[in-house]
Amino acid sequence: MIRRLLLSLSRSNGVKTLVTTAPGVGGVVSRFAAGETDEDAVRATRELLADGFKVTLDHLGEDTLDRRQAEQTRDAYLTILGRLADAGLTSGAEVSVKLSAVGQALPGDGPKIATDNARAICEAAHAAGTAVTLDMEDHTTTDLTLETLRELRADFPDTGAVLQAYLHRTEADCHDLAHAGSRIRLCKGAYKEPESVAFQARSDVDRAFVRCLKILMAGEGYPMVATHDSRLVAVTEALTVRHQRSKGSYEFQMLYGVRRDEQRRLNAAGETMRIYVPYGSEWYGYLVRRMAERPANLMLGARAMLGRD
Ligand SMILES: Cc1cc2nc3c(=O)[nH]c(=O)nc-3n(C[C@H](O)[C@H](O)[C@H](O)COP(=O)(O)OP(=O)(O)OC[C@H]3O[C@@H](n4cnc5c(N)ncnc54)[C@H](O)[C@@H]3O)c2cc1C
Repeated sequence: MIRRLLLSLSRSNGVKTLVTTAPGVGGVVSRFAAGETDEDAVRATRELLADGFKVTLDHLGEDTLDRRQAEQTRDAYLTILGRLADAGLTSGAEVSVKLSAVGQALPGDGPKIATDNARAICEAAHAAGTAVTLDMEDHTTTDLTLETLRELRADFPDTGAVLQAYLHRTEADCHDLAHAGSRIRLCKGAYKEPESVAFQARSDVDRAFVRCLKILMAGEGYPMVATHDSRLVAVTEALTVRHQRSKGSYEFQMLYGVRRDEQRRLNAAGETMRIYVPYGSEWYGYLVRRMAERPANLMLGARAMLGRD
């Protein structure tokens, strides 16, 4: 119930204003995000790469209904890609983009605007020697996002996509997208979704994750296994043996600041371990979803706001 409440709050502007202006919240934000500036993002990337990790950078922001803001987000990605290239970091760092942050929900031709903005980001990533992954948002956007993926992959075949195991449709999407060269991030799914489209029980989501993982691992694409769940990491390790997948033909992904012990263990075992690194000032929605995943994080936030952390 707490999870569903928090997921509703992640899209509430009133609560957003209250939380983002609260004293003490900065400490919680810095646990899950690299910082607000480009310098923070480059610094975090440099440190993670030096430790042997890979990185995907997320310029925080989502759900924009303002065209100018969508363009600013696009430009922020162009800037950070230039900064990464100048710093010689693009061999290990890519970017993750939410289409709702670059205009997908704008009235009228939002999907086209988002695709055009994402295309500009793909061009800049390509010029910098790296790639883009399109994050997946709530189920009302899945078809639009996969359509944008199809269009972008015509010119940039290394564009990655995300599939969410909690959606009933995802096994079929895995079959469609498990082809050679296809970079697919599999995650459980982080949004509040109705029963009509998504599994609700954790155990059902976990079982669906395993079914999807089996399809991706048996396929010819490049699975990006995004989970902090130790059992699912173990299932992945077993499937790599079954399908004789060599290290480097798939990767693990985890969020910045979450299960650093497990991140280090996989890295030390020679696995490709990519860290999803959010940065920027629009951290509210991202942070509330992290709290929904783990109520202990909620206590962390409450204590910080009360000045006890
Ligand atoms: C790299 C990456 C990219 C993602 N991209 C997307 C996306 O595009 N779209 C989307 O809908 N979702 C995305 N997600 C979020 C994902 O859908 C899940 O909500 C999230 O990963 C939690 O699920 P889990 O698999 O880690 O399992 P859970 O069962 O939620 O967690 C397993 C264990 O991991 C630890 N843990 C998990 N989350 C946290 C946390 N926030 N804080 C502290 N500990 C935690 C806990 O110990 C927990 O018991 C992404 C996740 C990752 C790792």
